[in-house]
Amino acid sequence: MKSLFGKTLDELVLTVKEKGLPSFSGKQIADWLYKKGVPDIDGITNLSKKAREMLSSEYEIGLYPPSDVQISSDRTKKYLYKLRSENYIESVYIPESDRATLCISSQAGCRMGCRFCMTARQGFKANLTSGEILNQIWSLPEKDKLTNVVFMGMGEPMDNIDEVLKSLEILTADYGFGWSHKRITVSTIGILPGLEKFLKNSQCRLAISLHNPFDEERQKLMPMQKAFPIKDVLKLIEKDEYTQRRISFEYIMFAGVNDSQKHATALVKLLSGNDLRINLIHFHKIPGSSLLPSDETTVENFKNYLNSKGLLTTIRSSRGEDIFAACGMLSGMKRD
Ligand code: SF4
Repeated sequence: MKSLFGKTLDELVLTVKEKGLPSFSGKQIADWLYKKGVPDIDGITNLSKKAREMLSSEYEIGLYPPSDVQISSDRTKKYLYKLRSENYIESVYIPESDRATLCISSQAGCRMGCRFCMTARQGFKANLTSGEILNQIWSLPEKDKLTNVVFMGMGEPMDNIDEVLKSLEILTADYGFGWSHKRITVSTIGILPGLEKFLKNSQCRLAISLHNPFDEERQKLMPMQKAFPIKDVLKLIEKDEYTQRRISFEYIMFAGVNDSQKHATALVKLLSGNDLRINLIHFHKIPGSSLLPSDETTVENFKNYLNSKGLLTTIRSSRGEDIFAACGMLSGMKRD
């Protein structure tokens, strides 16, 4: 069975036309999918019984609940979903006093091989469809409390850009969820072809995983630096004349690896003159890795230096470490 959930309006119109139904039925179905949350095709009551039977012979809605949840002592929740492909993915719900953010996955596994990341250990398993990406939001028990979504879970969004763009269209379109672009951030290590497509086709916010200002050192942490050097990523972003989007840089702090004064000075040289933000992130040690987190004083001093040089820098608070839900710790491991 194919899914209706996750289809754009154009795709829904095409689907109904193929079944010999009028084009406006596509918009009717979009309303039921993305505004009313219909659980099955039989619930689309403004379609005739015959039309519903025709659709049901090939399609289902395609929504499914999480198969497991773990709850952290800080109230962060990690949800596990089983995909049709039999792969598992995770998303992380992070409640705060004034907002609630969901960190979602765009792939099962990942082929990018970053040394500090648990997802990388699995290798690539599958791209998520737009419906599977959006199901993490729609099937979230706390859906009505959500204020923000970040594409920072498992996978590299720019390596699955077509499905990610479809999900962003549905999230922001009037026919879909109708969210503001400002509520959505897509993160990337800088995969240029996908990033170029994203900049042209979406106004959502962008986060670049930087982690080191020196090419050779960055390549040791993130092998894709060789194919897509950070300098080329920065050049592409500078040409982003399409929108006034907010761009931020993520910088995980590793003890003795990227937290020295030399690194701070090079960061200022690399990023100065641009209107951007830097988020310093506490590293969560993962099994079998020699990488260690920088101590708090070093992180604080690093932040203060960057701020003193005019780079707006904050330290991102760490959430869900006790349930392996924090940054770089998602693995989609099934728990029996
Ligand atoms: S950090 Fe992101 S891009 Fe790198 S391996 Fe992990 S999931 Fe993939």
